[in-house]
Amino acid sequence: MKDYFTSEIMDQIRSQTINDTLDKAKQYAWEYISSIGDRHVYPHEEDIANLKVFDEELNHKPQKPDEILEMLHRYGTPATVAQTGGRYFGFVCGAIMPSSLPSKWLADAWDQNPAMFVLSPIASKIESVVEKWIVDILRLPNKCSVGYVSGSSTASFVGICTGRNHLLLNKGYDSIKHGLTNAPQIKVVLGADAHSTIYKALAMAGLGSENVIKVPVDNQGRMIASEMPELDDLTLVIAQAGHVSSGAFDPFNEICKKAQEANAWVHVDGAFGLWARSDNRFDELTKGLDLADSWSVDGHKTLNAPYDNGIIICKHSQSLIDSMQMTGSYIITSKDRDGMMFTPEMSRRARAIDLWSTLKGLGQQGVADMIYEMHSKAVYFADELNKLGLQILNDICFNQVIARYDTDEKTNALIEAIQQSGVLWLGGAKWKGQDIIRISVCSFRTTYEDIDLCIKEIAKLMGEL
Ligand SMILES: *Cc1c(COP(=O)(O)O)cnc(C)c1O
Repeated sequence: MKDYFTSEIMDQIRSQTINDTLDKAKQYAWEYISSIGDRHVYPHEEDIANLKVFDEELNHKPQKPDEILEMLHRYGTPATVAQTGGRYFGFVCGAIMPSSLPSKWLADAWDQNPAMFVLSPIASKIESVVEKWIVDILRLPNKCSVGYVSGSSTASFVGICTGRNHLLLNKGYDSIKHGLTNAPQIKVVLGADAHSTIYKALAMAGLGSENVIKVPVDNQGRMIASEMPELDDLTLVIAQAGHVSSGAFDPFNEICKKAQEANAWVHVDGAFGLWARSDNRFDELTKGLDLADSWSVDGHKTLNAPYDNGIIICKHSQSLIDSMQMTGSYIITSKDRDGMMFTPEMSRRARAIDLWSTLKGLGQQGVADMIYEMHSKAVYFADELNKLGLQILNDICFNQVIARYDTDEKTNALIEAIQQSGVLWLGGAKWKGQDIIRISVCSFRTTYEDIDLCIKEIAKLMGEL
């Protein structure tokens, strides 16, 4: 008999039962979730220092699943940022919907690949269903297609690549086949306050991060439509639904109408703000947004779906598929949805399941209420900060507050004290040349009582400075 190899190690691993370990994981997860309101919002220095235990050589022999879990829990849990609680206001994040975690766990056990229908009929089905729900809820044209990517950075990259290819193909130049070297020049027009991921996406798309026309913005960071340059059928316009600091929305109606007359392409970066479309209380802000050609939005920010959930929505389905498609002799396409036709990735996790369970757990009215409630809480936060003597520098139109404490020095000192307090966490930025405090209300967990607690702490810290 030939000497075929069987590894003792692999025999051992195959015999592992993880039932008890899964129970442990569930217990730790539940303890974490139920204690989230009492946790230091940012980890203690000592807990961060303890992370050095992870600096080890990879073990030579297998380690047991329960030992691995224990290590992660013992040293990892205390070093987490309590971003899923109610008093984290940094960047633009979002908590995790109760309905999404159990389904995510089950789907993790399935470990499905939504690249093709034949790889996973269930993942393909859910991607199709969620596509329809998202387009409906955001009141975008029915014919839109959706791709499930890791975040808005990738979603904008896909939208920009698709727009670029679409514009060039309409001029008779196939950039998918021939690349950009001999392509006619694309004119990129964006607001001067476009998010930094847009510049990155433009660079990755071969259009160059500096090869752009920046349209001046108003005192809220909105593009001034009347100052847009002449548009044509080789122009890619990038607008924004939700300025990362002020929350402001560009005037889509004017922008999109100009673009339509010129046959230009409009991509909207709506990473956190696009969800405003789910509620007619924001109709003033989002007017004309449906006239764009592609949109990027995150599930993992204001919608409170788990990471990593970015969404690209495109009105020109065929252009999206042409830009993202691939073939091969072993590829089996079907009349049903093959997820890889809409994303840069072939294999990826079936993340649409997270969106499905998040959306079902909220319902249509729940989505609209959550979004409007977050906004109301931002207004309340701003009003209370103002009473403490901080200046509020933006019109609170959607979730975001920009505050300042007299001078750059005092503002930064206050931010540092707040960050160390453990009661809440928020960050800073620059706004019109001044240092500011940024507050983003995007956790469904945040209550008015949470904000009162934060205000009390901020008042105390201001007194101490
Ligand atoms: C967060 C954000 C992005 C980037 O999204 P990721 O999901 O982090 O890739 C882009 N634009 C805006 C306005 C954002 O707030």
